[in-house]
Amino acid sequence: MSKNNFHIAVLSAMPEEISSLKNKLKNIQNFKLQNQEIISGIWKEELSHSNEIRITSSWSGWGKVNSAQAATKLIYLNQDFPKIDLLIFTGVAGSADNNLKQWDIVVGDALIQHDMDASPIFPKYVIPNINKSFFKPRKEVLKWTFESFKELENKICFKKVYSGTIATGDQFISDKENIISLKSEITNLLAVEMEGASVAQVCFNDNVPWLIVRVISDSANDNAVTDFNDFVSEYESKSWLIIQSLLKNINHLKLK
Ligand code: SAH
Repeated sequence: MSKNNFHIAVLSAMPEEISSLKNKLKNIQNFKLQNQEIISGIWKEELSHSNEIRITSSWSGWGKVNSAQAATKLIYLNQDFPKIDLLIFTGVAGSADNNLKQWDIVVGDALIQHDMDASPIFPKYVIPNINKSFFKPRKEVLKWTFESFKELENKICFKKVYSGTIATGDQFISDKENIISLKSEITNLLAVEMEGASVAQVCFNDNVPWLIVRVISDSANDNAVTDFNDFVSEYESKSWLIIQSLLKNINHLKLK
């Protein structure tokens, strides 16, 4: 099999969602762009293929502006590095569907900004200059992700893997009424969070393939805050497994 080198960017909102990745990298270079710390290194674990994988990674802080700015900085970080092949955003999210529970994985097959509303000039949710409400990752990326996640489903701490719509907004949702109203307007809505669709928009604008993967931390209801805090400390030590499962299977990612 021919050898390919990959450059994957991995972004999260919080340090807990990404910290365990650092131990998996060698030849680490550190960058600091104003308030954002970025690391870049080579995946050091055996992956049963000989591809060299550069990981450039950072956490953005919560919300659409933080995550859009962080994604942009990752994309333009260093002209000496090869171009980013794929930008992955991983982190936790509130469930927007009664069937989804903590530790279920949601792969976003459509991302929407639920707080974008320029009506009546544009239909609700449509982002004016690009005239789009949904961002969809490439089909080949989705297919590869599902293949890769087979080894995670119902293993270790993870439960089922779903794909569906993820809605993003500058709002922590802890109210069932809010979810009910979003679900009445957004088809196949499975999860709510605060960064995915803004990262998807940056990648769409800059023509970088992207993937948003969320692990359910809470049910976006009255218990959301308590559920969330208990969950995150455990998630911290497990989040790298999501990236590992994708990298193991990187030979099957068709981008070029
Ligand atoms: N630890 C915080 C909660 C953080 S929630 C507290 O309880 O004070 C904010 C982060 O988690 C964001 O990065 C967002 O993307 C994600 N998230 C998880 N559950 C969410 C929910 N119910 N609504 C919106 N964002 C949620």
